[in-house]
Amino acid sequence: MLDFLGNLERTHYCGALRASDAGGDAVVMGWVDRRRDLGNLLFLDVRDRSGIVQVVFNKETQPEAHAKAEHARSEFVVAVEGKVIKREKANPGIATGEVELVAAKLHILNHAKTPPFPIEDEINAAEETRLRYRYLDLRRSKPHRNLALRHKIVLEMRKAMDEMGFIEVETPMLTRSTPEGARDYLVPSRVHHGQFYALPQSPQIFKQILMIGGLDRYFQIVKCFRDEDLRADRQPEFTQLDLEMSFPRQEDIFKVIENVMVRVCALVGIPVKAPFPHMRYKDAIRKYGSDKPDLRFDMELYEVTDCFPAEARQKLQIEGNVFALAAPGGARYTRKQLDELTEKAKSVGARGAYFVKVLPEGTTSTVEKLIGAENVKKLVAACAATSGDLLVAVSAKERIKGTEAAALVAGQLRLYLGETLGVIDKTQWKFLWLTGFPLFEWSETEKMWASAQHPFTGIVEEDLDKLESAPWEVRSKGYDLVLNGHELGSGSIRIHRQDVQERVFKALGLSEEQLRKRFGFFLDALTYGTPPHGGIALGVDRIVMLLAGEKSLREVIAFGKTTAAQDLMAESPSEVEKDQLQQLGIEIRKK
Ligand code: ASP
Repeated sequence: MLDFLGNLERTHYCGALRASDAGGDAVVMGWVDRRRDLGNLLFLDVRDRSGIVQVVFNKETQPEAHAKAEHARSEFVVAVEGKVIKREKANPGIATGEVELVAAKLHILNHAKTPPFPIEDEINAAEETRLRYRYLDLRRSKPHRNLALRHKIVLEMRKAMDEMGFIEVETPMLTRSTPEGARDYLVPSRVHHGQFYALPQSPQIFKQILMIGGLDRYFQIVKCFRDEDLRADRQPEFTQLDLEMSFPRQEDIFKVIENVMVRVCALVGIPVKAPFPHMRYKDAIRKYGSDKPDLRFDMELYEVTDCFPAEARQKLQIEGNVFALAAPGGARYTRKQLDELTEKAKSVGARGAYFVKVLPEGTTSTVEKLIGAENVKKLVAACAATSGDLLVAVSAKERIKGTEAAALVAGQLRLYLGETLGVIDKTQWKFLWLTGFPLFEWSETEKMWASAQHPFTGIVEEDLDKLESAPWEVRSKGYDLVLNGHELGSGSIRIHRQDVQERVFKALGLSEEQLRKRFGFFLDALTYGTPPHGGIALGVDRIVMLLAGEKSLREVIAFGKTTAAQDLMAESPSEVEKDQLQQLGIEIRKK
């Protein structure tokens, strides 16, 4: 019943046929997208990577082909030999809509079970089902487009890096732990029982060693692995554009990345101007309540602690600073909407949310009784609120000194209000460099200082003396690239002196023995003439996601994992055979 492909040669992709092909012969191959049987005429829409073409089977002129087509079902694999003709009535809905293929011969190359969901652009199937049958999901045109775009972006990155004198070097996947703040994925050694490789959280140490090795300019499009509790925009394995260069100034690294991003954005017709603006971390927190501010809209934050007199602060249990913003159009919010906003504020950590409605007929406020009319006026002036605005002020419990808890809460409300009030200009692409990060942040869980980025991040020279005495004041030479409120990547000028690197490890609480054991090889390498160096890594998946206009990373990864870190199609992770465990010297303890 099934035909062999034999020596049959495809002449055209389905989606490529045009009016100019009319009159010629064509052989197309692909999947049956749809079958319509009108008696004497039977239509098969045949689909491949490039699109769809309508094939018509005529019972009178080609009875054999027609009879065979009656057996074809959705997702059967077919080859059709025929003649291209102009349609009497064009279908402007598809690229091949001006023509159809009149079948002379049909080859049914394979059968298909009825798929669990129709292969269509608009898809209603649950994401779990789509992931389980990813090969069917991939037949849709959108995943094709996304993967093709991903290919183009990565290709452009490679071309740009090559043209700027960078050499792509592969670094090991089976290695030892590289600290990037996540848990390691471990691989047990069969040869050395009880010993483990770690999959790289990033090639950080290796790329620095390449600089010690004199490579000067390295890059790599590379997989990294981090065992974290997953959020919507994370994957346990992800791809970075990773780079490192010797003797760089910060602006040299920025220039390289700006060049890459301008070129990549041009692929999808987004005009981007370099250089990108810079902002200091502190200003980002105070003005936007975020370390990745979305600059597609204003709605800046203002510190308004002064507008809350001591007595009111006590009554409202306000600790730390109060931050406020003016939301344009928010003055029309109903009582119910304000309640919802209060709930939202609380859910992101606010202690209290206080509102002022600025209306032509006058200003009303939920806290006027507590802070007085004068202070309400002061608030309105401080936030430059105008008629129609809703002024939102928030307080929050200060958890870590100097981290401006209320600003972070206000920053979340800024995003929420920006979205709900529709003031974000979605046509804009706003890149931003963030600099001036602290070197350390306090880890509440570990009760000690942790690297804000990773322990190889360079230190602003004047702050070196404070490493031991006032670690919280030490500024790093790190930077982040932000686009429309998303962190695209981060990097730094590195520590290149062994003595400084050792002091940082110690400030992080590593004992002499621990640091020898974990980083001894690296500390050694640093003593053999390490050039000043620096670099950065960008998240490729995230860049593709944004440029493809997608909301989930899984839409731009061929075989993505769920938020529970599972591959539903390959059913991994999975149990393994007993003798495999034995060879590894591993025993599983049942819970
Ligand atoms: N290794 C860093 C990361 O993966 C990037 C860098 O510092 O170059 O985030």
